[in-house]
Amino acid sequence: MEYTNEQITELKESILFKKKNVYSVLDEAELAKMEEFCKGYVAYLDASKTEREAVNEGIALAKAKGFREYHFGDAVKAGDKFYFNNRGKELLLFIIGSENIENGIRISAAHVDSPRIDLKQHPLYEDSGMAFFKTHYYGGIKKYQWTAIPLAIHGTVMKRDGSVIDIVVGEDESDPVFYIDDLLPHLARGQASRPLGDAIQGEQLNILVGSKPLNKDGEIKLAIMKLLNEKYGIVESDFISAELSMVPAFKARDIGFDRSLIGGYGHDDRVCAYPAIAAILEQENPTHTLMAILADKEETGSGGNTGMKSYVFIDIIASLAKSLGANEYTVRYNSKCLSADVNAAYDPNFGDVYEARNSSFINQGVVMTKYTGSGGKNGTSDASAEFVGFVRNMFDNAGIVWQTGELGKVDCGGGGTVAVYIAEKNIDVVDLGVPVLSMHAPYEVIAKADIYMAYKAFRTFCE
Ligand code: MN
Ligand code: MN
Repeated sequence: MEYTNEQITELKESILFKKKNVYSVLDEAELAKMEEFCKGYVAYLDASKTEREAVNEGIALAKAKGFREYHFGDAVKAGDKFYFNNRGKELLLFIIGSENIENGIRISAAHVDSPRIDLKQHPLYEDSGMAFFKTHYYGGIKKYQWTAIPLAIHGTVMKRDGSVIDIVVGEDESDPVFYIDDLLPHLARGQASRPLGDAIQGEQLNILVGSKPLNKDGEIKLAIMKLLNEKYGIVESDFISAELSMVPAFKARDIGFDRSLIGGYGHDDRVCAYPAIAAILEQENPTHTLMAILADKEETGSGGNTGMKSYVFIDIIASLAKSLGANEYTVRYNSKCLSADVNAAYDPNFGDVYEARNSSFINQGVVMTKYTGSGGKNGTSDASAEFVGFVRNMFDNAGIVWQTGELGKVDCGGGGTVAVYIAEKNIDVVDLGVPVLSMHAPYEVIAKADIYMAYKAFRTFCE
C-alpha cells in the first residue's frame, strides 16, 4: 500500500507525539506576564538564600493575601486561609475548599533548603597569619565549585542567655564577603592529576574570615572573636548553638543576550517553591482544599522534624479533618500531590550522561518525572499510569506546555525527591518541576519560559 505525503503528515499529526517549545504558544501579552512573574521570582530568590529566609518571605507574602496563623485544633470552615510555621524552617499554606474535604486535598510540596556549606560547632581558628571557619558541607556539592568565589554568611545563633539573633553578612554591596582559597595552577600538578571529586577535600573547605592581628604580633582569632562580640554580643561557645551557613554572595541575574534564562543560587528548589506558593496565594474560595508545603532538609534526605519525613503535614491533615467532621484516612486516600522539584535539563556539553528521548529540555515547559531513583528505579515511588494520566489530561486541557524527564541515563547515577515520603502516607503523587542546568552548583540556570509554565501548572492544579 502506498501513502501520499499528505497522508503521512496527517498520520504523524494524529498518532505521533510531538514536543513543544513554550515560545511557540506564548503571545506578546503572555510574554509580558512571564517577565513580570520572573521579576517576583528573582526578588524572592535573592531574599531567600536559606530555608529560614524562604519561610519568612513566604509568610510575608501569605499574610498580605489574608492568610492567618494556624494552630492544631483550630476550628476551620470553607474559604479559610492559613499558614503553619514549623519551627521557622518549614512552611505550610492551606485554604479550606468548598467541597467535602474527604474528596481529598490538592497538595504541592517543594523544598526551600539548598546545597551550601555549614559551619562546624567549633569553627573559628587561626593558622599561618589568617583566621578561618571549619565547615561541613550540606547536600550534594561538587566541592571544587565552591572555592575562589565570594561567599556570604547567613544564619541564626542562640546565645548562652537564651536570646536568638539572625546574622547576614555579604549580601549588601558595602558588606565584606568570605572565601575558600584554592591552589594556584602553577603548583597544582598533583591536584590536577587527581579525580575531580578528590581535587578539593571536605576538610579543605575552610572559610577565610580575616587576617588582622589584635596585637602587633598576633592574636588573629581573638581579634575576629572580639569583632563578633562587639557587633553581635556572641562569645565563642555560642557557635555551638548556631546554624550558620555559607552561601554564594551572587545575586540572581538574567543570562544571555536575549535574557531568556536566569542564573542564581538555589533555583533547586525555590524555582518550584515560588510558583507553587504563587498559585495558592491567588486562590479565593477554591472548590478543593489546597495545601502548599515548603519543606526543609530535602538535600540531606528529608530527615529532621522540618523535613518531609516529619509528621507535621499528616498532623495538620488530621486536625483539619477532625474540625470538619471528616475521616482523615479518607482525606489522605483521595488527596493528590505534585511533588514540586527540579529535574536535570539536557545539557549538550555533557550529552553522554543523558538519554535525550527521555530528558527534559530548556524551554520545553514544566517537567513531569514519573519515577526517580537509581539502579533499577531503587528508591522511587513511581507514579501510577492513572495518576500520570490524570495530571496529563489536566495540563493538556489547560494548554500547559509540559514535558517528561528522567534524571539521566539508566545506571549513570540518579537521585530522589520528597515524592516517596508523600506516597508512603497513601497519597497519589508525581514529581513536577523546572529543568535546571548545573544543578547544585553555586550558580544554577533555569529558563523563564519553564518557571512560567510551572506557575501555570500549579495554578491549574489549584482550580
Ligand atoms: Mn530539589
Ligand atoms: Mn537538590
